[in-house]
Amino acid sequence: MNNIAQIVQQKLCTSCGACAAVCPQKAITMEFDSKEFLYYPKIDTAKCNNCGLCLNVCPGKEMFGRDTAKNILKAWLVYSKDVNLRLTAQSGGAISQLLIHALASKIINGCLVTKLKGVNPLLADTFIARTKQEILEAARSKYWPIPACTGLSKVAEGDNLIFVGTPCQIAGAKKVCAHNKLINDSIFLYFGLMCGGALNLAFPEMIYEILALGKNEKKEIAEFDYRFKDNNHEWPGYLRIKLKNKDIFLPNRVRGALKRFFINERCKICIDKLNQSADLVFGDSYVKGKLREERARGVSLVLARTQRGLQFFEENKALANLEVVELEPELVSSTTKIAEIEKLAKQNVPVHEKLYCPELRKHWQVDVKQSPRFLLVIDYYFISLFKKRIVRKILSKLYIWRIMHKIFSIKDKFVKIYG
Ligand SMILES: Cc1cc2nc3c(=O)[nH]c(=O)nc-3n(C[C@H](O)[C@H](O)[C@H](O)COP(=O)(O)OP(=O)(O)OC[C@H]3O[C@@H](n4cnc5c(N)ncnc54)[C@H](O)[C@@H]3O)c2cc1C
Ligand code: SF4
Ligand code: SF4
Ligand code: SF4
Repeated sequence: MNNIAQIVQQKLCTSCGACAAVCPQKAITMEFDSKEFLYYPKIDTAKCNNCGLCLNVCPGKEMFGRDTAKNILKAWLVYSKDVNLRLTAQSGGAISQLLIHALASKIINGCLVTKLKGVNPLLADTFIARTKQEILEAARSKYWPIPACTGLSKVAEGDNLIFVGTPCQIAGAKKVCAHNKLINDSIFLYFGLMCGGALNLAFPEMIYEILALGKNEKKEIAEFDYRFKDNNHEWPGYLRIKLKNKDIFLPNRVRGALKRFFINERCKICIDKLNQSADLVFGDSYVKGKLREERARGVSLVLARTQRGLQFFEENKALANLEVVELEPELVSSTTKIAEIEKLAKQNVPVHEKLYCPELRKHWQVDVKQSPRFLLVIDYYFISLFKKRIVRKILSKLYIWRIMHKIFSIKDKFVKIYG
C-alpha cells in the first residue's frame, strides 16, 4: 500500500487535503467520517495506481516544524484601525486587513482563504477570494481540521496569491508546490496561523447536548462560533450559537475547559504551534504590559519568519490601515513559550501532552473508546463555571480522582449505558 490509507488508519491524518490536491488520478476525496467526527481522505481504489505521490506530500507522517525557534526575524503587535473589521476578525484583524490591502494595491490578485459553507455551520470551503467582501466573509478562525489544501486545485494561470493556513496545511501546500509548477508559481506568500490544535466535530455536538437543544432548535442553527467577539463580548471571545431568534453565549472558560477532550488525535503529537514554514505568522496577543487596554477588541501577534515575509510587512504596514508596535525579542520568547516548545520537540515530547492537563489526558486516553464522554464533560463544564481559578484547580483535582474511581470501579456499568 503506497498511498495515504496507512496514514488514516494510524490516525496521523491532519485533514489538510494535500493528498487530494496532488493526486494525478483524482482518486482522493475528503469525506466526513462520522465515527471520528473528522474529514478524512477516501481513496477510490479503482482509480488509484499506487504512484505514492499522496504519501510523499503528506505532512501527517512526519514531525514538521521541529526547529521552531530558529527563524523568527521580527515580531509586532498589530490591530486594524477599522473597528468593524477588527471585531469581525478573530484577533486584531491583521490577516484580513493585510489581505485587503495587498489586493487593493494589486500586489496579489486573490487569496486562498476559508469560509463556512451556506447553512451548515460546520462545513468549510477554501476558495480564492478576489474582493474585500469575500475576504471579510472568510475572516475569523475555524477551529476544526479543514482540508484547506484542496483549494490549491482552484489555482489558475496568471494567479498571484496569498495562502492562509495552519502549520499542517502550509507544510502540505508547500509539498504540493514541489510537484506542481503552476501552483508553485502562483503562491506569492504564506500567511500562517499559530495553532494550538484543532477540535473534532463532536465538540459542537457535545455543546448541543449540554444545552439540551431539541431537534427543531438544532435545525435553526445558523452559526456556531467557537470564539465570538463584539462590543459587548470581549476578546478572547465567547462560544456563540446563533439560532433563528436568539443567540446563546457560553463564557470563554467553559470552552477552554472542554476543548481538551476533543483535540484531534494527530494534533496531540504536533510540535509546530508557531508555523515554521510560513512567511508571516499570526496569533493572539498574550504579551504582558503592551497594548493591554486594546485587548478587549483583539490584538494580533505577528512574526516574520522569512525575508520575503519581513519585506512584505515592512513595506506595507504603514499603508494597510494598521496600528503596529514592534516587540522586543525577549517578549516574543516569553509570550509564545517558544523555548519550552523547542525543548519538548527535541525530546520528542508532544506539546499538547504538556500543555493540556497531563493527568486527565492520561486517564481519558485509557478509556477514550468506551468512555461516558458526555457525562464527564458535563461535570467539567460545571467546574469551569466557578470564577476563582483556585477553586477550579481544587475541584479539577478532585474531579480527576472521581473519574479514576468511575473508570476503574464501575466501568462496565458506564460502558453499558454510554459506550
Ligand atoms: C485551528 C486553529 C488553532 C489556533 N490556535 C491558536 C493558538 O493556540 N494560539 C494563537 O495565538 N492563535 C491560534 N490560532 C490563530 C488565531 O485564532 C487567529 O487566526 C490569528 O490570531 C489571526 O487573527 P486575525 O484577526 O489576524 O485573523 P482574521 O482577520 O480573523 O483572519 C483569519 C484568516 O484565517 C483563515 N482561517 C481561519 N480558520 C482557518 C482554518 N481552520 N484553516 C485555514 N484557514 C483558516 C480565514 O480564512 C482568514 O483569512 C488558531 C487558529 C486556528 C484555525
Ligand atoms: S497513490 Fe497516486 S494515484 Fe493512488 S491515491 Fe495516491 S496519488 Fe492518487
Ligand atoms: S495529506 Fe493531509 S489529508 Fe491527506 S492523509 Fe496526509 S494529513 Fe491527511
Ligand atoms: S495542531 Fe498541528 S496537526 Fe493539528 S491542526 Fe494545528 S498544525 Fe495541524
